[in-house]
Amino acid sequence: MTIEAWRITGQSQIDSYVGRWAELGVLLVNELHVTRARGRPVTPPENRRAALEEALRSHDWTPGRPLTDADADRLAGVAAELHPAFAGDITALNQALVRHGAVPSLYGDPPRLAFHSAEASLPDAWAADAATALAMVIGVGQGERLRSCEADGCELVFFDVTKNTSRRFCGLSCQNRAKASAYRARRRA
Ligand SMILES: [Zn+2]
Repeated sequence: MTIEAWRITGQSQIDSYVGRWAELGVLLVNELHVTRARGRPVTPPENRRAALEEALRSHDWTPGRPLTDADADRLAGVAAELHPAFAGDITALNQALVRHGAVPSLYGDPPRLAFHSAEASLPDAWAADAATALAMVIGVGQGERLRSCEADGCELVFFDVTKNTSRRFCGLSCQNRAKASAYRARRRA
């Protein structure tokens, strides 16, 4: 008789851990790094910290403590480090794992698994956990799920959760713009 390994390790919990931190990576890249979104240049927010806090709130992320301006600046650096992973650059991702001290660690009671040490600063902890999640997605052969919008003038990234990995655009507005420009191109041809 074979043991169903995944049932023992609780795959759904691992999946939700990876999914949640991969989504944070997406959020950081989109909020703090991309320069063009939905066909328009992105204007950097006047208050980076406030803009990030708003984005986190709208995605149900509650930091363990209030963010500082310095956190927001460091997280912008983290976003720049994570972005290449969405273009399949595993060298940059490996460097981020090392730089931010990604290491399996248990904390709390009952113990929960994280991928940063107990002493890590908030930006380092988020970087380590998000980078680990992206590495797990890639490492189990699902790297194609880390994608960038294919529409012109849009660099937004997303985590494709469709069954057959068929999502090409960040959202409806880009999908419609791409459709319209393909239509115009056909008419010109
Ligand atoms: Zn887009």
